[in-house]
Amino acid sequence: DVVAGIGGGSSHDLAKYIALKKGARLVQVPTILSSDASVTSAIGIREGWRARYIGHIEIDRILVDFSLIKQAPKELVRYGASDILSSHTAKYDLKIASSRHKERFDQSYYEKARDMLAKLAENRFEVRDVTDEGIKTIVELYLGYAEIAEKLRSDRAQEGSEHFFAYNVEYLTRRQYVHGKLLAVGILAMSYIQENEFDKILQLMRDMGLEARPSIVDLGKEDFSKAMMTLRAFTERGGYYYSVINEIELDRSISEELYKILSSTF
Ligand SMILES: [Zn+2]
Repeated sequence: DVVAGIGGGSSHDLAKYIALKKGARLVQVPTILSSDASVTSAIGIREGWRARYIGHIEIDRILVDFSLIKQAPKELVRYGASDILSSHTAKYDLKIASSRHKERFDQSYYEKARDMLAKLAENRFEVRDVTDEGIKTIVELYLGYAEIAEKLRSDRAQEGSEHFFAYNVEYLTRRQYVHGKLLAVGILAMSYIQENEFDKILQLMRDMGLEARPSIVDLGKEDFSKAMMTLRAFTERGGYYYSVINEIELDRSISEELYKILSSTF
């Protein structure tokens, strides 16, 4: 009567799904931290290469074995920070949406998300070096955001235009990615489009040992530009939240300029 999800993001989503179907208790054991799937209650699936959440499940226990996680490639753990950093662009999108009266804006959530990002920044070198403190920081912040998601009754706290970009890339290229890696590209790209502290986020990524060049996920100029130019249609079709994507025309010249900027930043 217990289902255990051992591994990375997709094994945790699979474990959630099986536990829900079987009515079993769920224990999650992350062996890497490349996404927050091990601590969140939402069950994510890819349907026709689109991300969708099909339900929620209560997690009985999360076992974090520091020595196990340290055996994983350091890079995979570092990129786990992306699912925290994503709140930088996601909360900006929420602000835009609420100013257009598309959604309610919760100031207390906004401040909490800001404080949590500050905590990540404080521990950025611990994250880079994948120390116990660094791993603890990532897991605790995942839990903090999961709590916000519970309160808001939505994943809006961490999912905005940066995730939509990542989902569109998955959809267009039909390839699988390390979530945190592809997301890092999306976060930096959207903070540029939003004119939202691009330099600060870039520096934070550098300090944590993260790169956000499109080439780290083998994304060439053509695929990158296509993902940007089709992004609005993709989010409208998929029924994703209102975001900066609805406000700015992402044409070929902006997309190619952005590709150049991201490619030369690291
Ligand atoms: Zn994510």
